[in-house]
Amino acid sequence: MKGYTGKILWVDLSEEKTWVEEIPERIYTAYLSGTGLASYILYREIPAGADPLGPENVLAFVSGLLTGTGAVVMGRWMVATKSPLTGGWGDSNCGGTFSPAIKQCGYDGIFVKGQASRPLYLLADHREARLMPAKDLWGLDAIETEESLMKRHWEKKKPSVVSIGQAGERVSLISGIVNDGGRIAARSGVGAVMGSKKLKAVVLKGILPMGGQDPAAIHALSREFSDKIRRYSLPGLIKGSHVALGGRLLGLSPFNPSLDGLMFMPLMKKWGTSGTNGMAANMGDSPVKNWSGSIKDYSRPYVAAVNPDHIAKLEVRKYHCYSCVIGCGGICRIDGKTGGRYTYSHKPEYETVSSFSSLVMGKDLDAVYEINEMLNRAGMDTISAGHVSAWAIESFEKGLITTEDTDGLVLEWGNLDTIKALLEKMIRREGIGDLLADGVKLGSERIGRGSQALAMHCGGQEPAMHDSRLDPILGVIYSVDTTPGRHTTGSSLYYGLTKLWERVSWAPRAGWHSKNSQYKASREEALKTLASVAYKQVVDGAGGCLFAMISGVQHYKVFDWLEAATGWGFSPDDYMHIGRRISTTKQLFNIKQGINPLASKMPDRMAGLPPLTQGPLKGRTVPVEEMIANYFEVAGWDRGGCPKAKTLEALGIDSLKGGECHGQG
Ligand code: SF4
Repeated sequence: MKGYTGKILWVDLSEEKTWVEEIPERIYTAYLSGTGLASYILYREIPAGADPLGPENVLAFVSGLLTGTGAVVMGRWMVATKSPLTGGWGDSNCGGTFSPAIKQCGYDGIFVKGQASRPLYLLADHREARLMPAKDLWGLDAIETEESLMKRHWEKKKPSVVSIGQAGERVSLISGIVNDGGRIAARSGVGAVMGSKKLKAVVLKGILPMGGQDPAAIHALSREFSDKIRRYSLPGLIKGSHVALGGRLLGLSPFNPSLDGLMFMPLMKKWGTSGTNGMAANMGDSPVKNWSGSIKDYSRPYVAAVNPDHIAKLEVRKYHCYSCVIGCGGICRIDGKTGGRYTYSHKPEYETVSSFSSLVMGKDLDAVYEINEMLNRAGMDTISAGHVSAWAIESFEKGLITTEDTDGLVLEWGNLDTIKALLEKMIRREGIGDLLADGVKLGSERIGRGSQALAMHCGGQEPAMHDSRLDPILGVIYSVDTTPGRHTTGSSLYYGLTKLWERVSWAPRAGWHSKNSQYKASREEALKTLASVAYKQVVDGAGGCLFAMISGVQHYKVFDWLEAATGWGFSPDDYMHIGRRISTTKQLFNIKQGINPLASKMPDRMAGLPPLTQGPLKGRTVPVEEMIANYFEVAGWDRGGCPKAKTLEALGIDSLKGGECHGQG
């Protein structure tokens, strides 16, 4: 085996039938697996102008090429589709156990099209795939659904289940797909697509072996990485408040230091991603008050309120995704903390804590737990829901909406009780919740009255909890990634940590540098952006995790693992070429679907127009238009974001055709 199975499962919900498609090796050498393989299939299958919530849209569940080969931290599964939020390419990525489960059924991906006339779920193992009635599951939250299906189908092997909650059933455009008791592939409105197809869940219970070509080489690389992760631990004396203090110092420093990404791993092991909330708030990474404020508004007592030591106290067990040696997840006991509504909860991620702390000026971590559990069960994206809440509070404060619009809710900064009530309405699509359940763009357009100016989104998708005024490459990614608003594709911080220049011939070195230099729209910054984008496509094709990725290519040896698994004889530059092919195919997908690549530029507020007047980001403005132009140029795309003919030829995809190119041609 070379890591991949060479097969995908097709499901047509309209016809209630399934079949298998064989995928030739040349597609894997061109696209790897994961979202790379999905980009090839979805470009081919989804017709121009297809309704994202209609039968022509395809929902792809894909595994990574390295999943199951023995390579560690390679167990992410991905879902890809035409996004109903943006109208273009959409994908989302999650951990847990679903990625190996796809392969153990004998597939690299499951591709679902059509639309069922009644609720169904897919049940598959290594012998057969069947569609089953799901009427009795419709209306349950995602965790109840998973528990019910586990009971029904757990024989020799524990099945792996993904499902939608009530938000997906009600086709909320900010809904996601949930697995492993509350983990969620939250972005791009993927839950709405599943809900529109009336597909409640997918249950997998195959037992086929997985593997790569050279298991000894794969395991040697895995051992090397695991040993490093084991060795790096935080001394017990280091507290959450010390990490937050580190963020203050980074915020004050005129330089961005060159850090070894491995130093973040002990933080991840001890606290998970929420270990960085205090640090991020202090250094200016966490957006404050719907992106209008700074750490001076969200001051020290607030930062103390998100101290991760509080989370650690509630943690009853650590949680690892499949094949992970870092283990950033945790299950917390929260009864008595949230009014007794829930007993256990996944530890909230950084994004969730920030969405319901600095973004809305909240300072009650216990309430964040409850919101986290509530949204995970309903299957609603916490990043998007946080932005909707922040927009609603600011609109209320400015008198653009009143209690007449909010069904009597008095919305105010930091009041998580009323935010909870608003979110419950959104999950139920009740009153104002019905207007807002499709995200901040559509919600603000439905309300009107100038409130659209307060809606922070990029092409329809709410941005993540990382401030583009701190990280200009992130501003470019938010604006023109094929999935705009995305924070995982690339950033100045990730680039510095990933140290791509150590393996990739054309990736510029980023040592210690003055913060001012990164605000210059240079060719060097554009190459860093391109390298980040291409590398993330490779990592997604492999099934890798972002958090391991940022430890750096000198530790997390994705290129070498791929070679050991496939024996293709490719260099890191060759893999980066594949990464560029994948991102360009996604760009062609968007153009085919009528997307103007320049139309998702982030709002002026996010670019520092006007600049903040206080805090670590004081005076910062991102020259985003020039940076985008430079990025398009080094990517071989024209000024409108349309890939040039010679670029398609160089990438070997000149047979693909975009639709009409918008922008500046
Ligand atoms: S680092 Fe965290 S999110 Fe990534 S694979 Fe490991 S447990 Fe999952």
